[in-house]
Amino acid sequence: MTDDSRAPSAPYDPGNIFARILRGEIPAHKVYEDEATLAFMDVMPQGEGHTLVIPKAPARGLLDADPASLAALIATVQRVARAVKTAFAADGLTIFQYNEPAGGQTVFHLHVHIVPRREGVMLKRHEGGMADPVMLADHAARIRAALDSTGG
Ligand code: AMP
Repeated sequence: MTDDSRAPSAPYDPGNIFARILRGEIPAHKVYEDEATLAFMDVMPQGEGHTLVIPKAPARGLLDADPASLAALIATVQRVARAVKTAFAADGLTIFQYNEPAGGQTVFHLHVHIVPRREGVMLKRHEGGMADPVMLADHAARIRAALDSTGG
């Protein structure tokens, strides 16, 4: 019996927008980087402080990722999530990850969303509109400051 549970529906495309950010070909409002992961602001935030965390190793989604890369990814998600919660004085966090178009994925390099939440405030629509870059730069600076203050 063949096991195709790990197979992506298409090969990894190195031209995807997050691969281009990793290569420095297009800018991003970065908040954290180490040898295995990168975190930056989502340009179409579903809430103030919406941040993305990606592994540097190429993977289309969760199912085809290397376990070591996933371990580094989730450690950075926790580290950045703590800073995001502090930076935005959030009551909670919504953390999510989509796989394949049927699962809601639109950028085909594995990424985890972190959105700070406040009691009674709904998430905005997914891909609802481009945010002001000055605001995104300010939000990134707030998260970097929170990382620095917690030794994150
Ligand atoms: P999804 O693949 O559905 O999980 O969503 C991809 C996310 O990437 C969306 O929330 C987009 O707003 C976001 N996004 C797309 N292009 C960029 C970019 N150049 N910089 C930062 N975020 C982006």
